Amino acid sequence: MVDFSIEPAFQAKLDWMEGFVREKVYPLEYLYDYDKDAPYDITNAGLRKIIRHLQKEVKAQGMWAAHLPEHLGGQGFGAVKLTYINERFGFTGFGPVVFGCQGPDSGNSEILAMFATDEQRERFLAPLLTQDVFSCYAMTEPQGGSDPTNFRTTAVRDGDDWVLNGDKWFASSANNAAFLIVMAVTDPDAPPHGRATMFIVPTDTPGFEVVRHIGLFCDRRGEGGHPWIRLTDVRIPDSQRLGPVGEGFKVAQSRLGGGRLHHAQRTVGRVKQMIDMMGERALSRSSYGETIATRQAVQMDIANSYVEYCQFRLLVLHVAWMFDQQLEHGREGRKMISAVKAAMAKIAQEVTLRALHLHGSIGLSSEMHFGRHLAIALHEGVADGVTEIHLANVAKVLLRGYKAAEGHFPTDTLFKRKAWAAERIAPLLAEVGTTLEESRADMDHLQPAEKF
Ligand SMILES: Cc1cc2nc3c(=O)[nH]c(=O)nc-3n(C[C@H](O)[C@H](O)[C@H](O)COP(=O)(O)OP(=O)(O)OC[C@H]3O[C@@H](n4cnc5c(N)ncnc54)[C@H](O)[C@@H]3O)c2cc1C
Repeated sequence: MVDFSIEPAFQAKLDWMEGFVREKVYPLEYLYDYDKDAPYDITNAGLRKIIRHLQKEVKAQGMWAAHLPEHLGGQGFGAVKLTYINERFGFTGFGPVVFGCQGPDSGNSEILAMFATDEQRERFLAPLLTQDVFSCYAMTEPQGGSDPTNFRTTAVRDGDDWVLNGDKWFASSANNAAFLIVMAVTDPDAPPHGRATMFIVPTDTPGFEVVRHIGLFCDRRGEGGHPWIRLTDVRIPDSQRLGPVGEGFKVAQSRLGGGRLHHAQRTVGRVKQMIDMMGERALSRSSYGETIATRQAVQMDIANSYVEYCQFRLLVLHVAWMFDQQLEHGREGRKMISAVKAAMAKIAQEVTLRALHLHGSIGLSSEMHFGRHLAIALHEGVADGVTEIHLANVAKVLLRGYKAAEGHFPTDTLFKRKAWAAERIAPLLAEVGTTLEESRADMDHLQPAEKF
């Protein structure tokens, strides 16, 4: 049974969210400097006070950390409901922090919940869940992100300790994090997916260093939240290893599925924002005496964007439903997560470009935020696995369900299909007492033999 209705009590919460996000969360984006990573800046006491105050309202509404199960302080809503929540604040940079489900902490809290020891949970997960600290997930390295078998950061066992050395790149939030979850090679000679292990590294550990602050291309140089970091002889006890030795990739995989879906859910909200901006613009500009909204080319862009938005939203809801049915694991689940990830990158880029274009010069100017919108849209095709790899995953799984045609000609070649149909229909003809000739079938059911 497919039912698109939303139960009234939950709808009331969503209605509250609409007003709250528009009136109290979205404005922060225009007053606090996102280049300086404002939502995550724990040193800005004034801003933290505002954020804490807003978080109290979220908690009072029972909407805090909606991605987490109840035993971890979340709401246990499940992924479908999370879609309705994430799409409502997805267009704001501050939304995730105010609602307690910002990346990379959301994924990190999930893997800590799954793999951490009791001691690790108390020390690292508990303060993360109350947002007393932020965290970072450091996997990508300067020499390569898409292929984890290229990673060179090492962790070498020394008595009860591990000693880590290496550079990590685009380590989001490392500049504001209390700790990092680091993937390091522990056995370079093992098969590719058994080489790495995860470690929890507090950022006050001697040997941790931010080499350079890196932002997106819309940020000011030397600012932004995705630093290049270095670990030099960083010594940590074995009690800070997260999960079994050699199972770093398994730990990584278990955080990425949910994270990709959360991004897609927020992208639904961002795409809708772009369409809203296009609508206003189309009705506000005129050309040769008529609004540009009357021009078919403009209508096509708006309508195509809306149709694609509806299709994408349904795909996201379907994959969310798969999560709720615990179907996200296994081959089919991974195929659909890759599908949603690739679709997200495409729609984010195309609709953002259309919206920018419709705004003409002001869209390209520094008087609007299209530089940021575009950077965020483009990042969807790179972070958490580049689009090519996700599409290849979709194709690989899909192709397992097919086999090559017999002979040189496609199965749907007419002479093959006619012979096949004649064979199928023969019992029916016999039953009703007729022949192909008598029923005047238009067919040449003799299949030429293939010789070469
Ligand atoms: C905003 C943002 C935030 C990020 N946050 C984090 C974070 O918190 N932690 C973290 O560890 N990483 C993070 N990353 C890094 C991200 O995961 C990597 O950028 C990503 O894995 C790609 O790696 P790369 O940048 O080295 O690109 P490369 O791997 O060098 O790929 C570059 C291009 O090569 C092509 N390509 C590569 N491999 C293939 C292939 N197999 N088939 C076909 N084409 C291919 C694609 O066109 C691809 O875009 C973040 C990135 C961004 C942009």
